[in-house]
Amino acid sequence: MARNRTLLLLVVVLLLLPVTTAHGDPSERASGGDAMPDPAPAVGRRAEPAPAAPVAVSPLPEGFVPGSTYGVRVSPRTGRRTFHAGADFLAPRGTSVVAVRAGVVEQVTRNTLGRTRFGGYGRSVVVYHPDVERWSYYAHLDSVTVRPGQTLAAGEALGTVGNSCNQRFRDMPTHLHFEVRSAAPGGRSPFPGAYRVHNEDPVAWLESMGVTFVRAAPEGEASVTREREPALARTATTRP
Ligand SMILES: [Zn+2]
Repeated sequence: MARNRTLLLLVVVLLLLPVTTAHGDPSERASGGDAMPDPAPAVGRRAEPAPAAPVAVSPLPEGFVPGSTYGVRVSPRTGRRTFHAGADFLAPRGTSVVAVRAGVVEQVTRNTLGRTRFGGYGRSVVVYHPDVERWSYYAHLDSVTVRPGQTLAAGEALGTVGNSCNQRFRDMPTHLHFEVRSAAPGGRSPFPGAYRVHNEDPVAWLESMGVTFVRAAPEGEASVTREREPALARTATTRP
């Protein structure tokens, strides 16, 4: 617990550092000309109470309509009991999707055709959160705006909501499929890989970090149903 708190503090400090440095650097304020001497500006600023920068945020800060939740469900499509590895957030195409927590982009997929290792997830982003040994996953994106290796702060945009997939489910409503996984054996990335054993309830995980979700009612809500929600996770496991 104490170690976790220390890590959280470290992350917050690291996130604040660039801002503090920029404002404390006289070369950044050349237009001022009369910048007054400040013996210890950085120290003074850092001593202030930490701003309300959250450690974690909702992947869709603009709001969403709740869709399928995490866990076993009866598939409306097949009538069979299937496991849904993530939470679905229904939102209009183009809605901004953000990293839920500071991390680094580990993988970006742009598969919209055929059977692939990421199955029917379409355009998607895997973000690794080393401080908590978790991976967050954002799928069916319309656009991806990040690259592997890129560092993201909590709340930083990584793409937009869409309904990209491998074209097995062309008329799927636009939504974000969001997952959280822990490490595979040996500390390896759980992506791609067996989805069920490494997953946990992503909404519960975010709520445990204080995230409150903005539920909205976008235009066309009445036409948004779960009827066409495919069992996408089933296709995402073993295909080469
Ligand atoms: Zn889903």
